[in-house]
Amino acid sequence: MEGIAYMTKDIKLYNTKSRKIETFVPITPLHVGIYSCGPTVYHYVHLGNLRAFIFADTLHRLFLYAHYEVKHVMNITDVGHLVSDGDDGEDKLEKGAKREGKTAWEVAAFYTEAFFNDITALGIHQAEYLYPRATDTIQEQIDLIKLLEEKGYTYTITDGVYFDTAKFREYADFAHLDIEGLKSGARVEENKEKKNATDFALWKCSPKDGKRDMEWQSPWGKGFPGWHIECSAMSKKILGSHFDIHTGGIDHIPVHHTNEIAQSECANGVTYVTYWMHNNFLNDKSGKMAKSSGDFLRLQSIIHKGISPLAFRYYVLTAHYRKELEFSFEALEAASVAYTKLRAWCADHKTETGTVIQSYQEAFEQALYDDMNTPQILALIWSMLREARESEADIYTTLLEMDKVLGLNLAASEKIIVQLPEAVHELVTKREQAREVKDWSEADRLRDELATLGFTVKDTNKGQEIQNNNQRYNIQ
Ligand code: AMP
Ligand code: ZN
Repeated sequence: MEGIAYMTKDIKLYNTKSRKIETFVPITPLHVGIYSCGPTVYHYVHLGNLRAFIFADTLHRLFLYAHYEVKHVMNITDVGHLVSDGDDGEDKLEKGAKREGKTAWEVAAFYTEAFFNDITALGIHQAEYLYPRATDTIQEQIDLIKLLEEKGYTYTITDGVYFDTAKFREYADFAHLDIEGLKSGARVEENKEKKNATDFALWKCSPKDGKRDMEWQSPWGKGFPGWHIECSAMSKKILGSHFDIHTGGIDHIPVHHTNEIAQSECANGVTYVTYWMHNNFLNDKSGKMAKSSGDFLRLQSIIHKGISPLAFRYYVLTAHYRKELEFSFEALEAASVAYTKLRAWCADHKTETGTVIQSYQEAFEQALYDDMNTPQILALIWSMLREARESEADIYTTLLEMDKVLGLNLAASEKIIVQLPEAVHELVTKREQAREVKDWSEADRLRDELATLGFTVKDTNKGQEIQNNNQRYNIQ
């Protein structure tokens, strides 16, 4: 790409930090560093987590489309994420290990692989990301805690080393926290030794009376890192002390991301992240989808119902990432029908001869660069299929151009060839014979009979094509 100058259009993105849509200005021209909070691998990821990863991947694709060099990190939390967002409760990995009668290491390895399988099925290209594991960066986390200690931001109590949030004056700013309200609302069982309700653990000591599966030596004794410090340490290691974009679900704004900002800015003395982007929840009927209930929807749950993972991706893209999305199988099935129809259209019009239609490309880019308006892009696609006067080859080529960002793998669309029901097959054969002897009235009568069974016949130069419920049956 060297030597090629691109005229890039303004990319507008919503920044949680300013609560405003801003024009994206990278730290280095045409380079973007992105850090996305990844999965905690003590269980399968649920559909809500997958919404967060699809959002991050669409953003990743947006920058590739805009000719940026993208360095995208997604961490694997394989240690130290406590059951509550506070610092009490069990480590989620150790909890998973007890549940399954395995070690925490085995649990982490199993669910990390399951996570990679899921995202691959969703069109997320693993090779384009960096996936550091928390357990591989323990030294970097210890070094960061040491730096905070040297600068006077920490204190040590019985169960570990804590960050003193009162020493970071801007602590409440990012999430617009009401610190006084938090103080009065602090739970009674909260650690009494903590100086402030919002203080959080940087290093937790292993219990005196028990051995953990995962524990490391440190200047503060044997133990394990807190959850927040891993993201600050891994992002610094790979992207530097200041990088462009950090993503995650909105649940991370008040605690996890607030704490990451406090640690990183106090340790490094520079602004941590320029743009913070958060996806809204995928809810089920009882509220935010969560793993803690134990009974949750995951990718396999929809595959079992015959819905493809990419139809789920399409479904997620029908809502703007900042809007809540209420999950229902009816809505997912409707999205799946639309997606199947789109693939069928692509299968029918596959070509390499078209050119991108400029007016539609411009409308696409306008929606894309307007805070990633994917529902508008999908609406644009359907209106293009209905109304565009250009050739089908050009429409197909334009679709593939848009799919670079949508990630729906439309280029791989194939005609679905399925066995016809026997009765239908018989009528089709009879009709073929009638056509051979040019008995057009009999052929028409058979066409009507097929229609009463829900099958439409189209005569093509390759023979009869039978269609039913958006599925195509090719009769050669
Ligand atoms: P976790 O494994 O819980 O740390 O979550 C991984 C990512 O999924 C984080 O960015 C979360 O904010 C996000 N997330 C968790 N639950 C949901 C949900 N119901 N809808 C959308 N995103 C979610
Ligand atoms: Zn994180």
